Amino acid sequence: EYWAEMDDVEMDGIEDKSRPVVEPTGPYAAEVQSKLKQVFLLREFRKNQFEAINATMDGRDVFVLMPTGGGKSLCYQLPAVCSSGKTKGVTVVVSPLVALIKDQVTALQDKGVDAVFLTSEDGEGKSREVSRRFFSSSKPTLLYITPERIKISAGTKSMLTHLYQRKELARFVIDEAHCISTWGQDFREAYQELHTLRDDFPDIPIMALTATANQRTVDDILVRLKMVNPAVFEQSFNRTNLIYNIVPKQTEKDMIAYIQRTYANQAGIIYRTSRDNCEKLAKKLRDAGLNAKHFHAKMETADKEATLREWQHGECNIIVATIAFGMGIDKPNVRFVIHYDLPKTMDGYYQETGRAGRDGLPADCILHYCYKDSRTILRMIKDPKDRTVTRESIERQEQALRLVVQYCENQSECRRTQVLQYFGEKFDAKDCLGKCNNCVNAGLYITEEVTEQAKGVLRLVQSLEKDQQNVTINTCQSIFRGSNLAAIRDKGYDHYSGFGAGSDMQKELVELLFNRLVHLDALREQSTPTNAQWHVDYVKLGPRASDFLTGKTTLKINHRPKTPKPGAKPKSTKRKPAAVNTQLHESMYVDDDIQCSSPPKPVQKSR
Ligand code: ADP
Ligand code: MG
Ligand code: ZN
Repeated sequence: EYWAEMDDVEMDGIEDKSRPVVEPTGPYAAEVQSKLKQVFLLREFRKNQFEAINATMDGRDVFVLMPTGGGKSLCYQLPAVCSSGKTKGVTVVVSPLVALIKDQVTALQDKGVDAVFLTSEDGEGKSREVSRRFFSSSKPTLLYITPERIKISAGTKSMLTHLYQRKELARFVIDEAHCISTWGQDFREAYQELHTLRDDFPDIPIMALTATANQRTVDDILVRLKMVNPAVFEQSFNRTNLIYNIVPKQTEKDMIAYIQRTYANQAGIIYRTSRDNCEKLAKKLRDAGLNAKHFHAKMETADKEATLREWQHGECNIIVATIAFGMGIDKPNVRFVIHYDLPKTMDGYYQETGRAGRDGLPADCILHYCYKDSRTILRMIKDPKDRTVTRESIERQEQALRLVVQYCENQSECRRTQVLQYFGEKFDAKDCLGKCNNCVNAGLYITEEVTEQAKGVLRLVQSLEKDQQNVTINTCQSIFRGSNLAAIRDKGYDHYSGFGAGSDMQKELVELLFNRLVHLDALREQSTPTNAQWHVDYVKLGPRASDFLTGKTTLKINHRPKTPKPGAKPKSTKRKPAAVNTQLHESMYVDDDIQCSSPPKPVQKSR
């Protein structure tokens, strides 16, 4: 229904017509063109689609890197229904999510395509029924399958072998191929086993598709799947219709009011870190009269599917979700994606924001940033619930988080430039056309050299440490700024020589300076329990403090010298006293269980 509608919209010129799309030529062009129109009801190819289709029909290994919403599915669904390619027979698609598989198979069946699926969920009866068709003379065109199924089911293996021996296997397709790589956050054990496809079926072409552009992951995919001289299709990750904004974290109330004002009856996703907070925020949104539901990995499968369906059909507007909500979400008219908590990686941020505006119309990506969130996540990374996590993995996650914080705190460089730079792509900020808040605010920010001020902070912390004074980062900032607070005088902190060293600095700049020093490991926050449930973070010198104190490292900070313009209230990164309830901490564990249905992971997930 709305697919047809969307295609109309695109024909009206919302698609970027200026992009170079090749005119299909060659031996497969005629069939491919006619199937595009007759089966998929589309008028023309998007960038790289025909090229990828042509290469796989030519029997080559193909690697397709396309942003979310770019149209990867067509690259394998279309050749599957063609018969002029070099390899003929069944196209086998490996896909990680049962919900996604079902969606795609239903959509294909609606188009009259003979597609079937096998997942680990399916019982004996259904499996046998599906398998039987592959031994018969009326074989399905497409088989969707989960990686677990290939890995563990002997029946599936013998079925594939049967097809192979009769030369009735056209190709293997590995969708969401980044799941094979241990570099990514979506790593999936059973994907690793897919390297056997090349060994067991040596001359069957493989097509791998992903939206994860990290070069290391890409190399990893090519090697692990043992791809031979693959045709590689990559394209820009720039999503021109997305508007990137990072705002100081608002209260839930303010954010809800903003949604009411700005997105009445429009579809959106709000990402949160903890499942509990998803449920609570969804309720608050409903209480405010908005049509919202939560989604996270701990829900019953049926519940998840119902929620997804309602959202997909527009019966529910807003989903408040953990990162469990995502892969394969295919709703074109998502008008906003809000990160109310900090994403853990730039990859995740890109993927999640990428779910907005798949119809090509403008959509907002708003990240609510506060420094404290990064500390919370850092604490979860450093102290993982799963004790088997390796040192390297922790360091990798720390580094990934650092890049996110750097992105949020860089208020001068075009956000689009920053995002694309993460994927190794150069982007000229003038082409952003004001579609990020840094470009809108261009010129409002100045770069200030704060090396001397940094030394002042570190000397102050040093002398406090020498006297065995435990102070929180907030208190320390007050001392540095020379605050006239009773709490400071009572403890005699006003007698330290560093007292008031930053009295001529703006409060916001002092906060930025401290934050930056923590991130550069010149300061660290030492978590000290006060009783069983609470702990306090005290500020201490970090391992890299001496680099600053000796003048080896200099420091510059981008900041906004005057109060921001009205509307964007500088609620800034003001921090509450650093007492953290560990109960809360417990419930904040990250939802990395991306699978809608698969055997439970061996990781202990208590309570
Ligand atoms: P991806 O898997 O890359 O995230 P999909 O394959 O799910 O993206 O496609 C995203 C959307 O783009 C779908 O709604 C699909 O129908 C649409 N689409 C794909 N190719 C074309 C095309 N050539 N013309 C118009 N719409 C297309
Ligand atoms: Mg896809
Ligand atoms: Zn910009």
